Amino acid sequence: MTYPDNSILVLVDLDPSGNAASSTAALLGAASIIGTPIALIVGGSQAAVDQVTAAGAAAVLTADNDAAALTVPIVDALQAAAAQVKPDAVLISNSISGRDVAGRFAVRSRSALSVDAVGVSRDDEGVIAHHSVYGGAYLVDSAPTFGTPVITLRQGAVDARAEAVASPQVEALSVTASGAVAATAGAIEAIEVASSRPELRGATRVVSGGRGLASKEKFVLVEELADALGAAVGASRAAVDAGYVPQSYQVGQTGVSVSPQLYVALGISGAIQHRAGMQTSKNIVAINKDAEAPIFDVADFGIVGDVFAVVPQVIAALAARKK
Ligand code: FAD
Repeated sequence: MTYPDNSILVLVDLDPSGNAASSTAALLGAASIIGTPIALIVGGSQAAVDQVTAAGAAAVLTADNDAAALTVPIVDALQAAAAQVKPDAVLISNSISGRDVAGRFAVRSRSALSVDAVGVSRDDEGVIAHHSVYGGAYLVDSAPTFGTPVITLRQGAVDARAEAVASPQVEALSVTASGAVAATAGAIEAIEVASSRPELRGATRVVSGGRGLASKEKFVLVEELADALGAAVGASRAAVDAGYVPQSYQVGQTGVSVSPQLYVALGISGAIQHRAGMQTSKNIVAINKDAEAPIFDVADFGIVGDVFAVVPQVIAALAARKK
């Protein structure tokens, strides 16, 4: 099978059921900005193949995975796929597993690695990755001087979507195991999280609460607004450290980076370490009783007020709209 000269190889992140993760459409969308998206699915279901073709992959390569061996089988498959497709760039989600695969693949293939990109583009010399650095204070570009760039893309940062292609090619890849030493999982235990809310990573709407919520009991207000908006719940580190919510909710430099369409910050001052994880959000709404709080420097809409007075009114207004 032949692949276009401007092919962009996209490694599809999978959820525990083997379906394409929510980051897939944006990865394929980003690939479509700079070339022709070719998807690689390692160990996925037939549903994953259908999902990536519906999301605009021009061709799909599939490979088996040894679920007990961590990362190495995926790097082996990526190496085989890259040899076949000869892509102009490799795009991988900036997820925990994606970063692991990207680093190993870049070392193995002696490629330049660009991590946590918030966008990609192309000029006469090739593919460029765009990054938001120093807490979102600067936008910088990275581009390799030789070889194929391997780029991890921040989840939620790219809005572009690829057009679905009529009858895309699907090819089973023949992979030779490298024999590289792999960590193995002794046992895999599925832990079901019973929540109807979207997952924080990759959510299109996020409502976060900070120390201004004052207690674990009062943090419920954040969850109520999130539910009214169909949003995921996030938090500042101060709220996590105070025990209002688990660490997995933390947004920022040492937490999750999000880039949703809507980010609502309640009782959060906007320290640089918090902004590092949310400043690329498309619309930022802040509610804080301190008019001088730095969060207002990055907010598109701000309300100076007490969250306990303002947020119930917002929830009531949203409920009235739904009637
Ligand atoms: P505060 O700074 O205390 O702000 C609380 C805000 O709530 C204030 O602006 C106040 O005016 C407002 N407020 C109080 N009551 C009300 C009310 N009733 N109504 C409306 N507003 C009210 N932080 C992160 O968030 N994420 C990170 O990943 C992170 N990583 C870090 C890494 C390092 C190495 C370090 C040193 C720090 C890190 N921090 C991180 C911590 C960061 O510096 C701040 O301390 C933290 O973000 C502050 O959280 P906060 O805004 O909730 O609290």
